[in-house]
Amino acid sequence: MTQVPSVSHQKARGLKPGSRRPAKDLCSECGLCDTHYIHYVKDACAFLNQQFDQLEEKSHGRQRNLEDPRELYFGVHQTMVAARKKEPIPGAQWTGIVSTIACEMLTQGLVEGVVCVQNREDDRFGPQPVLARTPAEVLAAKVNKPTLSPNLSVLEQIEQSGMKRVLAIGVGCQIQALRAVQDQLGLEKLYVLGTPCVDNVSRAGLQKFLETTSFSPETVVHYEFMQDFNIHFKHEDGTIEKVPFFGLKTNVLKDIFAPSCLSCFDYVNNLADLTVGYMGANFGWQWMVVRNQTGREMLELVRDQLEMEPVTSEGDRHAAVQQSIPAYEKGVTLPMWAAKLMGVFIERWGPKGLEYARFSIDSHFTRNYLYVRRKYPQKLAAHVPEFAKRIVAQYQLPKE
Ligand code: FAD
Ligand code: SF4
Repeated sequence: MTQVPSVSHQKARGLKPGSRRPAKDLCSECGLCDTHYIHYVKDACAFLNQQFDQLEEKSHGRQRNLEDPRELYFGVHQTMVAARKKEPIPGAQWTGIVSTIACEMLTQGLVEGVVCVQNREDDRFGPQPVLARTPAEVLAAKVNKPTLSPNLSVLEQIEQSGMKRVLAIGVGCQIQALRAVQDQLGLEKLYVLGTPCVDNVSRAGLQKFLETTSFSPETVVHYEFMQDFNIHFKHEDGTIEKVPFFGLKTNVLKDIFAPSCLSCFDYVNNLADLTVGYMGANFGWQWMVVRNQTGREMLELVRDQLEMEPVTSEGDRHAAVQQSIPAYEKGVTLPMWAAKLMGVFIERWGPKGLEYARFSIDSHFTRNYLYVRRKYPQKLAAHVPEFAKRIVAQYQLPKE
């Protein structure tokens, strides 16, 4: 049924590029404030108003079951599965499941447009959000732009275009704001396809990361923090450069992550209908979390193009996470030989599958909890959702 939007927001005006946003330093540049939907910012902004409980109810018809260990970590879901495209899309971030779903939705007429992010002509990692109308435009958005991206800046175009059925692809902070304003968009149906997201950076921060970490920053076309505890940089000529996580210059890189990402507890994109990442699956596979019927509908559209296998879980993350807490706080950097050795050791005996995903969630949530406690103590109680508080409570944190 078509939602009847309130039009009060149309009197508001989006902010000019570069001007200070309502969330100030915590702004993740999600794009909402570039549009007249800024009218709803106090309610909608992920960093001004944490409201997972209400938005889970709105998106999935229920809140997560905190007593169910899988839902505690991965949010409301019906099922999860490991999958990969039988014929991967060349140049996609992984095998291109996200782009394939979006293309199918357009060609099969389920949606008229797709919110996604291409790159700027002059910068392969510079984000250029678009409302794509053709599969070619969707495919031009494949691969991560590993930097803050104002995907929601195209929301006004939806209204202007008169589209009634739209798919939005985005990361957690964008999707939280989108869910809060979705009834104002005048749509009959909104589909939401999310990816996990963590440790994002401004474009300048990305440059610093590449220059500090890769031997050839200007030729990097793609990179990912992999389950083998290495960062894999793919270069223009197809070569893969591996840098162990534990060899990162933590003392230099500590400041590059955006304050929004150091305060975020929506790693797994809890409000998407379907989340597609990799970290809960074995190496080379993607990880699909089907949260509701709409998510299931999206998975079914591409099922015949996928190989699938059940998710698995192996190992125990707790000791490694506990050790990472003081190491990160002190900015410890290992010599490269020790970092490589540690990577080999952890890859062989460390957490795998869903346990690797929990390892990554725990290490980021403990780090982010300490960041919010130190920088924004007045926000701590309301900003950290109950599920994250329970996850963090498993570990001993340094005293305040
Ligand atoms: P593709 O078919 O290549 O499509 C990628 C899609 O992502 C495109 O539609 C594009 O519009 C969208 N996109 C690209 N950059 C951005 C951006 N900055 N903001 C919003 N949308 C964007 N997965 C994990 O499991 N663990 C992680 O720790 C993790 N960290 C991530 C960090 C970032 C900054 C991003 C953007 C993604 C991260 N992911 C993570 C998701 C993962 O890297 C893949 O994007 C996902 O598995 C989809 O792969 P694909 O081949 O199907 O995507
Ligand atoms: Fe606005 Fe988004 Fe920044 Fe919040 S995160 S202030 S909603 S642009």
